[in-house]
Formats: sequence, C-alpha cells, structure tokens
Amino acid sequence: MNKLLTTVATMAILTTSCTQKTSNESDFNYNVDKFADIEVLRYKVPGFEELSLNQKKLVYYLNEAALQGRDILFDQNGKYNLAIRQTLEAVYLNFNGDKESAEFKAFEKYLKQVWFGNGIHHHYSMDKFVPEFSQSFFAEQVKALPADKLPLAEGENVENLIATLSPVIFDPSVMAKRVNQAQGEDLILTSATNLYENVTQAEVEEFYNKMKDPNDSTPVSYGLNSKLVKQDGKLVELPYKVGGLYSDAISKIVFWLKKAEEVAENETQKAHIGKLISFYETGDLKTFDEYSIIWAEDTTSNVDFVNGFIESYGDPLGMKGAWESLVNFKNIEASNRTEIISANAQWFEDNSPVDSKFKKEAVKGVSAKVITAAILAGDCYPSTPIGINLPNSNWIRAAHGSKSVTIENITDAYDEAAKGNGFNQEFAYSQEEIESMDKYLSLTDKLHTDLHECLGHGSGKLLHGVDPDALKAYGSTLEETRADLFALYYLADNKLIELGILDNPDAYKSEYYKYVMNGLMTQLTRIEPGKNIEESHMRNRKLITEWAYKHGKDENVIEYVKRDGKTYLKINDYTKLRQLFGKLLAEVQRIKSEGDFEAGMKLVEEYAVKVDPELHKEVLERYAKLNIAPYKGFVNPVYTAITDVSGNITDITVDYTENYVDQMLRYSRDYSPLTK
Ligand code: ZN
Repeated sequence: MNKLLTTVATMAILTTSCTQKTSNESDFNYNVDKFADIEVLRYKVPGFEELSLNQKKLVYYLNEAALQGRDILFDQNGKYNLAIRQTLEAVYLNFNGDKESAEFKAFEKYLKQVWFGNGIHHHYSMDKFVPEFSQSFFAEQVKALPADKLPLAEGENVENLIATLSPVIFDPSVMAKRVNQAQGEDLILTSATNLYENVTQAEVEEFYNKMKDPNDSTPVSYGLNSKLVKQDGKLVELPYKVGGLYSDAISKIVFWLKKAEEVAENETQKAHIGKLISFYETGDLKTFDEYSIIWAEDTTSNVDFVNGFIESYGDPLGMKGAWESLVNFKNIEASNRTEIISANAQWFEDNSPVDSKFKKEAVKGVSAKVITAAILAGDCYPSTPIGINLPNSNWIRAAHGSKSVTIENITDAYDEAAKGNGFNQEFAYSQEEIESMDKYLSLTDKLHTDLHECLGHGSGKLLHGVDPDALKAYGSTLEETRADLFALYYLADNKLIELGILDNPDAYKSEYYKYVMNGLMTQLTRIEPGKNIEESHMRNRKLITEWAYKHGKDENVIEYVKRDGKTYLKINDYTKLRQLFGKLLAEVQRIKSEGDFEAGMKLVEEYAVKVDPELHKEVLERYAKLNIAPYKGFVNPVYTAITDVSGNITDITVDYTENYVDQMLRYSRDYSPLTK
C-alpha cells in the first residue's frame, strides 16, 4: 500500500524546469538493456555534486550499506535463488562455446531475468520464469566447471547440485509461484518464498495469533524480521540479525551504517541510524519501532534513507518484510514547488469554480517532499517505486506521522526514456501536440500531480450531516475525478505563472492534450479486449474526458479525426475545454458535498465505464506494434571515493556508464556476503 508504482506507458512526469536541461542531455543514454518483457534504464543523480563533502560521504556509506543487502532478498525470495544465481553466473563467465547460438542466447536471457527478479520468479506476476534453453545444456555446462566455482554444500558433488537445481529451474510444477494469493489454498505451502519452512498456513496463523494482544495499542510488527520454521516438531522464529540468519550480510550493513553514523547531518539522524544499528544487532522489533519513530520525525535532514525489512508484499500472509534500501537526498528546488503550491492553498480554494457553500473556509495544503534517489537496492532494485510513504506501522503513522516522498529523478528517467519509444508519434494528432508534450509535459505532468495531491483531495467540504461514504462504490472514482479536475482547471490558470512555477501560458496545453488522448484512447492499452473500465483512476480519466467530449460536442471542442484508417484526437478549443473542466468540477463537488448518490452513479455509469470495442481493438493493435516493454527497472550509478595519500576521502564521484550485465556481475563479485 505504500509504494506507488508507475504503470502508465505514457507516464511522463518531471524535472523542475525545462530550461534545466543542458545540451549534453542528448548524450545521456537512458536505455540500457532490453530482454523478455523488461527494459532496463539508467537514471541521473542531479544535485549530487552540490552536496557538501560530508553529505557525499554519508550518501556513499549508506550506498555501501545498501549494496551489502542484495543477497538477503535473493534468499528471502526462494531457497535456491543464491545457488542458482551463482551457478548461472559461473557458467556465463566460463562459457567458451558459441555465444551467438540460440541456446546460449536463451541462457543469457534467463540469467538477466533472474537478476531482475532477484530470483527465479517474475518480480510482478510472481510466476516462475520459463527457461528457453535445455536442461541438458545446463547440466553439460555445470559439469564442465571446476568444483570451486560452484555453490556446493557440505558433502555435495556436482551431480547432486545439478539434480537439486534442475527441477527448480525447469519443472514448471516445482515452486511455480513465489507468492500465491489464491483463495482456499494453503498459501504458505503453495508459495515458493523462503520466509517459512516446513509449516502450514494454519500453523503460522496460530503461532502469530498467540503472540498478539488485542489490547495492545502499540503492537510491534510481528514476524517482520524472521523466518518461521519447524525444528524437532516445534515452531521457531529465526531472526534476521547479527549472529542470526543473514548474519554475514547484516554485519556488513552494520559496518557501513556505523561509518554513516559518524558523518550524520544532525543529532536526530545520528539517533535513528544508531537505533537501526541496534535493531540489526538485536533483532528486537521494539527497537525497530523506536527507530521508525525517530526516522519519521526527522524531516530536516537533507540526506535520508531506508534500509531494512520493510514491505510485506513478498509474504502471502503480509507479515515478513522484504529487505530493501533506498538512499536519497532532498530535491530542494522541486520541494520548493510543492511548498509554494501548499502555501497558496487558500487562494486556490477561494477562486475555484465551485459554489461557495461547498468551499472550505480554512484549507491546509499537504506538502510532500521531492527526493533524488542515489542508490536503489534490495526490493527497490532493479524494479523501483516512484513514491514511498513510510513507516508502515499504523499506530506510528497515527501518532508520529509518516514521510511521503516522490522520487523525481526516477520519474524523470522514465519520462526521458519514453521519448524515443514512438508512443506519441503513433497516437498524437500532429507534430504540434508532440512538440508541446516534448517541451512541457515533463513539468505540467508534475504540476498536475502536485495540484492533485497537495490541493485537490483536500479541497471542498461536505455539507453538515452528509455521510462521507454516501457515494459508496462510486466514491473513489468521484474523489479522483474531483482531484484531477481541480488540477486540470488550475493548470491553465495565470496564478501558476504569477507564482513562478510555470513560464509559458500555453504550457498547460501539453497536459490537456495528453489527458484527453489518454482518457479517451490510449489508456485502453491497459484493458483486455472485451472488458470495461474498472480501476478507479482509469474511470475518472474516462469520466472527465468523455463528459467534456459530449458537452463540448456542439462547439466541436474535442474532435475524433480519422486518418489513414487510424483514429486521433484533436482539441479545437483549449479555452472552452478549461471551462468545461471547471463546470464539471463544480458539479462533482456538489455531488460530493451533498452526498448525491444518484447523480454520482449516473455520471460514472454514463461516462466512465463503457469501452468502444472498435476503438479498443484499433488502439491495442497500434500499441502492440510499438513493442514497448511493460516492465522497467534501473541500473545504479557507480560511486567512487577519491582519497588523498593518507586515505582520507576528498570527494565522491558518480559515473553512469556501467551496463546491466556488468553491474550485476560486479555486485555478485563485490557485494555477496551470503554466497560461497
Ligand atoms: Zn488521488
């Protein structure tokens, strides 16, 4: 629930100012590698050079702590993952046959997938990868290797190893799914994840239910940092800690955290790093909560990081935390943008086209921090979130707040990488729209998100006595509709120019065009043939654009144009389109404020749900031809410490040239405390 993942192919966001892009922008190659359904990109770390030497050291030490955890996640994801990775890499590095052969190519593709999935399962679908090379090829290659290159257990020989790993890799029925969520099955026994061993779902549930005290208002996150196993008929938790499970990796993480502690920016940061170290040393979940509280309350440090057992999507029962790390620093310029918007929240409320009886007398904007990622690791790598909201513990969130961040250099990279994919060229009406989007969408898309999040959701009020759940199942679609309309309406307002966050009165057209094209057409790429629109954000986009299309029809505000058998959208009157957005905003706010269920249902059912099957088919066919990888991830930059003759660090440099395969092999060589 706390990771915002990008799923929209057109997702175009970012950079604080278009003028920021320098002429060497074109020299930077965002596209690194492409295989299976994956595209690997690289990202920039703007602003790193401007950090103080102390902050650079802090980032550097935290990065090292991040990279040392890689093996933990591989092992959490599956019992044989580390052995498989090591074996595949040994074959890869020692192969001296024909590297152009189909068999070797298939082998290489599989290894790239295993790296990307941090194991043998797809990071998103959780299904086991299907190798396209033969079992005999695998066996022959492994047999040809010297024994010291292989992860042989005590008393195990090469034959045993091949016999153990072959079914895990090749038999589709063995460890088929990493996380099984199918209702009615034993979710523990049917999931390949390595968080439990020899235990059934019922046993796990009983074990943890016994621990929980229903009257405890500040419960720890039970089971977060341990593997639960059955030993001699008894259930035992094996905690991840120094001296416990993953000790060799955790000790190295602690080593680097201690260095980071020494160069902390302030006492608060020093305190939470210290707590985290003590959590890793003791495995005590109370200490983890203490750490989380200080961390959540540390809103002044420029450099910040996550390092630990955090999200529980990898556990079918949602308890055990997958190891992850993200090191970052504040993007001051971009955070400034959200702060300006929040500071003017009352002006936006007062001047909205909504009936004054539905407006808030005193509105407070929410400000979220914008950050620059410096390194991605564990469960954040290579596939990464674009926004994070932590800590996860509900009572800590309620009592001490949480930190909500958007990772702008990652969204920037998605955006830049998408530019060459031909998407806009295929679907946009003309060169004019393409150029406008190339030039401004990066900024206007970000502003749309800022206005939506910081102001839109917080605007307006319910009339006295209206049930907040009056709109029932239509509530979330209408809520997103309201926030999007608020953003769309104000994107075209001179106020943004006055506030200095936009520099061109026509810039908003890029977002209007993208929004209309997406809402009426291109978002259909995410829907299977024959299906209607179900997801609430998608419904909201369809509602807004379909309503504006129909209500502007007499004046031809939005037009469908057919050219060479292809459908395009053309906006003939942007000013009228903005008026329509304002009109719909007023109506949606009325529906919400009065709790008018009937009107809300009618809006959604009439405008937001139905798909034109002809257009849908056409869009899917055009999209398929573009061959855009549905999943994306990143390689990290390489940080190097420059030292003087006495070994003191004098600077940290960043290099962006490493490719995917080299990075994975280097990490396995230099950051692999858990492999033999
Ligand atoms: Zn929203």
